[in-house]
Amino acid sequence: MKTIDQLPMLHGKTVLLRVDLNVPMTHGTIDDTTRITRIIPTIQLLLEKQAKIVILSHFGRPKGTFDVRYSLAPLVDALSHALENTEVKFGVDCIGEAAQKAVDSLLPGEVLLLENLRFYPGEEKNDPEFSQALAKLGDIYVNDTFSCSHRAHASIVGLATLLPAFAGLLLTDELHQLETILSTPTLPMMAIVGGSKISTKLELLDTLLHKVEYLVIGGAMANTFLAAAGSPVGKSLMEPDLIETARNILAQSKKLGCHVIMPVDVVVAKTLAPHVPTRVIFPEEIAEDEMILDLGPVTCQAIIQCLRDKIHTVVWNGPLGAFEFSPFEVGTFTIARIVALLTHQGRIKSIAGGGDSVAALTAVGLQDGFSYLSTAGGAFLEWLEGKNLPGIEALQSFASLEVKDSKRIRL
Ligand code: ADP
Ligand code: MG
Repeated sequence: MKTIDQLPMLHGKTVLLRVDLNVPMTHGTIDDTTRITRIIPTIQLLLEKQAKIVILSHFGRPKGTFDVRYSLAPLVDALSHALENTEVKFGVDCIGEAAQKAVDSLLPGEVLLLENLRFYPGEEKNDPEFSQALAKLGDIYVNDTFSCSHRAHASIVGLATLLPAFAGLLLTDELHQLETILSTPTLPMMAIVGGSKISTKLELLDTLLHKVEYLVIGGAMANTFLAAAGSPVGKSLMEPDLIETARNILAQSKKLGCHVIMPVDVVVAKTLAPHVPTRVIFPEEIAEDEMILDLGPVTCQAIIQCLRDKIHTVVWNGPLGAFEFSPFEVGTFTIARIVALLTHQGRIKSIAGGGDSVAALTAVGLQDGFSYLSTAGGAFLEWLEGKNLPGIEALQSFASLEVKDSKRIRL
């Protein structure tokens, strides 16, 4: 992989910088700025090289069409602030005339943020025409999002086949940290998986079973597993289509001797809002109009005991409850605190990843409490499984091009 520190002075060349500005946000307010602050060194290095910087990102899941709720406009001020008040311009479209005009107005050393890539269906389809439309805007492509590199999307893969392609500092650092800590982990290892992106993550658990001795399933993910084990789940968030998959995963875990820890008690409420009345119950006691929103104390205790007595390496993706609303943060915060304590004592190595997971750890003041905090969730899990990430492969394939064979290499 070629990295941006290998780039010469760029003297006004336009860099298309793909980052992950998919930050946790409530009503237009950014809840956690980790993903912004982590890309600043890359932007600063490119500014020092006198590049014109065009930032590309997705935000949320608009369905391939403009939707103001998913605009990247609210990110402009936060980016500017993180860049010590350097002006950040905004382009209302990511391709076409408006984008071109915004790019043409840039001077060397200036920064432009373009609108959400996912307003076009071509982004997620890795459509060659959409990739071409993006590539037209710049001279060099930089990928600084490990967190999106498991997606074969236009701005991750397509662009890297059209322009000279380089890895940013964050992407390089994430890979280096994961490799250092996890290439030969001290066993036994525990994976903690929670969160709400059930459909994208549940199937990953199958391979994860081969890698870890202990698997904790929490968050909304656990609800599908509780249903698979025959428990009612009321109106909890879950994925009925994946009950069978969950059942197979549980059967597989038994065969492999991987210990699965699922909630034995849960915190339920009738609505997901702050400070609503709650009950701690066994899952089978749930009423039809209740939902599971956190782990109960007995489950937390079981996880803590296992961590303390057995585990040497922890990988964690996905909050264990709806931590944004008090008191449903208790499970996530409790387990985070014990992992941080054991890490501090040198008894375990710990890595957590994922936008919301990082937000949860930051909210409880543990942003420095783990061995490493990755901005990536799904990509981190796929990397852990040993899968090749298409975005990384695209960068590697550019790096292996022979100079004489590629016009792309001439900057
Ligand atoms: P990450 O961003 O760390 O990869 P996800 O995006 O998969 O994690 O999931 C994070 C979200 O999961 C949080 O917003 C949290 O509120 C939600 N969540 C966790 N547990 C539950 C639950 N039991 N019911 C509903 N939402 C939950
Ligand atoms: Mg998330």
